[in-house]
Amino acid sequence: MTAYMDHKDLANETIDETRTREIADGVKRVLDGIAAAEQAAGRDAGSVRLLAATKTRDVGEIMAAIDAGVRMIGENRPQEVQAKAEGLARQCAARGLELGRDVPFHLIGQLQSNKIGKVLPVVNTIESVDSIELAEKIARRAVMRNMTVGVLLEVNESGEASKSGCAPSHAIDLAKRIGAMGGLELQGLMTIGAHVDDEATIRAGFAHLRRTRDQILASGAQGTEGCTELSMGMTQDMAIAIEEGSTIVRVGTAIFGPRAFI
Ligand SMILES: *Cc1c(COP(=O)(O)O)cnc(C)c1O
Repeated sequence: MTAYMDHKDLANETIDETRTREIADGVKRVLDGIAAAEQAAGRDAGSVRLLAATKTRDVGEIMAAIDAGVRMIGENRPQEVQAKAEGLARQCAARGLELGRDVPFHLIGQLQSNKIGKVLPVVNTIESVDSIELAEKIARRAVMRNMTVGVLLEVNESGEASKSGCAPSHAIDLAKRIGAMGGLELQGLMTIGAHVDDEATIRAGFAHLRRTRDQILASGAQGTEGCTELSMGMTQDMAIAIEEGSTIVRVGTAIFGPRAFI
């Protein structure tokens, strides 16, 4: 169990008015920022979807974001998925929303193979698939359950050792092999922007991910026709990612404020 989970009740469903307003303001700011970036880049309004990155946030905080217009959420850790799924599903239902349909649920953090069974019944899409071995294990579990799970191939565009993701030079080959697997639906690519100040470096990684996606689509390989999503851009680099073609931005801090726990 991760240490912060001992300090915070992630299943808590009640937050005060000040916190509710804070989160609503955060969502509005981010949605306005996305709209402005879409327009500045000459892209269609609504072509970029907001995923709220909800690690360390409790059910009450996440519902405040959903009440303010968030329609996709992403967790990093299987334990957090488990701790919150029941409360989120019930709170969504009380608002006439179905978690997983009206509010897609993604896993955006590393997945160890012994945790696949924990997340498969809950999440729609696993954004952190970065090896054939992991893809095969997820596929086998999904087929056993007679279901199909969405996957994004995570690519380590920055090459930073601290980051997961496959090498950019392997991405096209991996995508073709994943596309051919039963039980998986390859929906696109994901990356985490370079952790540097230099905008050109961050931009180059995003642009390369977009070109990789385009090459995968152009290959016509079996199971790659739905490889359209580009999940890239976070609080610090969202506007750059949108200029470079992002279709999903994953934002935590700009919605919920700084994290008290990592
Ligand atoms: C935490 C996290 C985000 C959001 O980061 P912020 O800087 O808080 O917006 C996005 N993607 C992944 C994979 C994350 O772990």
